[in-house]
Amino acid sequence: MTGTYTRSKELFERAQQSIPGGVNSPVRAFKGVGGTPIFIERAKGAYLYDADGKQYIDYINSWGPMILGHAHEPVVKAIQDKVANSTSFGAPTELEIAMAELIKSMAPNVDLVRMVNSGTEACMSAIRLARGYTGRNKFIKFEGCYHGHADAFLVKAGSGVATFNIQTVPGVPAGVSGDTLTAPFNDLEAVEKLVQEHKNEIAAIITEPVAGNMGCILPKEGFLEGLRALCDREGIVLIFDEVMTGFRLAAGGAQARLGINADLVTYGKVIGGGMPVGAFGGRQEIMQHIAPLGNVYQAGTLSGNPIAMIAGYTMLKELKDNPGIYKELDEKTAILKNGLNEVLEASGTPYVINQLGSMISVHFSDKPVTDFASAGAANNALFNKFFHAMLNRGIYLAPSAFETWFICNALSKADIERTVEMAAESLKEIL
Ligand SMILES: *Cc1c(COP(=O)(O)O)cnc(C)c1O
Repeated sequence: MTGTYTRSKELFERAQQSIPGGVNSPVRAFKGVGGTPIFIERAKGAYLYDADGKQYIDYINSWGPMILGHAHEPVVKAIQDKVANSTSFGAPTELEIAMAELIKSMAPNVDLVRMVNSGTEACMSAIRLARGYTGRNKFIKFEGCYHGHADAFLVKAGSGVATFNIQTVPGVPAGVSGDTLTAPFNDLEAVEKLVQEHKNEIAAIITEPVAGNMGCILPKEGFLEGLRALCDREGIVLIFDEVMTGFRLAAGGAQARLGINADLVTYGKVIGGGMPVGAFGGRQEIMQHIAPLGNVYQAGTLSGNPIAMIAGYTMLKELKDNPGIYKELDEKTAILKNGLNEVLEASGTPYVINQLGSMISVHFSDKPVTDFASAGAANNALFNKFFHAMLNRGIYLAPSAFETWFICNALSKADIERTVEMAAESLKEIL
């Protein structure tokens, strides 16, 4: 049942002649796990089809956006209906108001929201705003968290930066990264210490409320609450990077699921329904510093693009109007988790499964995985073998142990059973 990947291999050869590493985003290159990336031709529901015509059950889902499955019909139709009216105006539209109102109705602590074109832009702009609002320069981020590829965030970053073990990124001047302070995720004491050392200098603390760029890592009890209290005490802007968790862990994102509000929230992935979209928003008092209300400049030629807006709006509206979707996603993920627990237990290899809602990851570790250090200490060479064994059996996992898996609601119980069966076979093969 092993794949041949003939056409993908040809395409990868050709791609490398004109695209850096053959890809337009590094993790896609499979450099972390080795081998040839599979080139995708199309996708529908929970399935991907590669250039050789092979079908896969998809656990990446475009790294999150496809929460309802690929080519979800209402989204496809909404795009088709809009596209003939031109793809961009660079002028305001009523649809952008509807989108902002919908986001506000799902995230009650957002008074004003600005649309951008990616998660990177959202996080970069939120930090600029926090700095402009507080008049302070430094901010704290957590080791292994990823907030996009803006200069100031490429310090101990997760996702591809972690996968490729890039310690310092050439091209990021020390003058820029010097104001980025880092602490281990889940370590409130370390944050407290940084805040004391840099009294009245810290503009923001930015975190993924549930980390998904070093595998899936849950916040320990009291961690986010502690950050909230610390920020309130010290006049620091708390930013939740909900690019991954927003509209995924609940209609109101991690804020609603965990019951903690940030001052600023960033969105991406699900918010665009598969189109290039991001957003940042928050309380009026802070957001009013954004241009043209204030002088914190932020702009975008294609921001609020009508095709991107209708795709995102259609998806968010369906999620808001059908809260049962989140229950279904939780149930499906629980079935997957139980099945994986059984086969991993039977295999005798040490493992950890971390999961919340439709985010789940497997680490081959004999210790709990609670931060970047413990994620890195796992047997990630074994993960890479597992990845390839699964891929050969038609299960498309993220090509790195430093990524979460995403469940989409198009996934059937039969798909999950098949995934678990293939996991059992894969473990037999690699152990
Ligand atoms: C994906 C991601 C980003 C970056 O979003 P892009 O759209 O890739 O720029 C930022 N933060 C988190 C938490 C992410 O998962």
